[in-house]
Amino acid sequence: MNAKDLSLRLQKAAEYVPQGARLADIGSDHAYLPVALMLQNKISYGIAGEVVIGPYKSAQKQVAKNGLENKIDVRLADGLEAVELADEISAITICGMGGVLIRDILQRGKEKNRLSGKERLILQPNVGERQLRQWLFVENYTIVAEAIIAENNKIYELIVAEKALTTPEYSAKELFFGPQLMQEKNPIFIEKWQHKLAKSERILASLHQSDQDVAEKIEAVTEEIAWIKEVLADAGK
Ligand code: SAM
Repeated sequence: MNAKDLSLRLQKAAEYVPQGARLADIGSDHAYLPVALMLQNKISYGIAGEVVIGPYKSAQKQVAKNGLENKIDVRLADGLEAVELADEISAITICGMGGVLIRDILQRGKEKNRLSGKERLILQPNVGERQLRQWLFVENYTIVAEAIIAENNKIYELIVAEKALTTPEYSAKELFFGPQLMQEKNPIFIEKWQHKLAKSERILASLHQSDQDVAEKIEAVTEEIAWIKEVLADAGK
């Protein structure tokens, strides 16, 4: 394989990996990301961490096929347990999972002392971006970059974060939309939130039909709808 084989989504994640990084890719089905980055000479060392035996074996095969066994370690482990502080990892990619799962992997990694705090985190949640940003905020990370891309009729967000001494006071709205994405409001962002607005309005209508006690849920969805309308109106949509 070469870098061209990466999906647009993984290419975007790759862009944020600093030159010469020691990279840990967690949830590294096929080890595509570390292998492509090593073939580009963009990383100096890689770990491909996988918790499931099938993808772990695929990752091993991919590394061997490219003759990179001395440069990329494939480790069967849960989350950041694939990493030791002695590995001196400088960038961690966690892509293609739910934001809550990514958050839980980071939280367990923190509790098990697998994060030095010096790593750049490059995260690509499929859903649950808000919960992930919330964790980053509470843990004193600054969101240094964000991206939103469309591929195969899906929209993906990327969040790049680094630990800082002082972090911005992100508002609830910024955690919901992404602080940089909501400033930029590019066409893919608009498309995502137009779609979400229609979905939330359908959810609200069905909640109003419910005979359960859904008052809190109605309040939360109503607030989300108001925020989305506000952001879209700011963009002239
Ligand atoms: N990162 C690749 C990508 O973005 O294309 C693969 C994404 S795939 C949908 C998610 C992978 O994460 C699966 O191979 C799964 O086995 C792995 N995974 C899920 N939970 C994990 C965990 N706690 N630790 C390590 N790997 C995990």
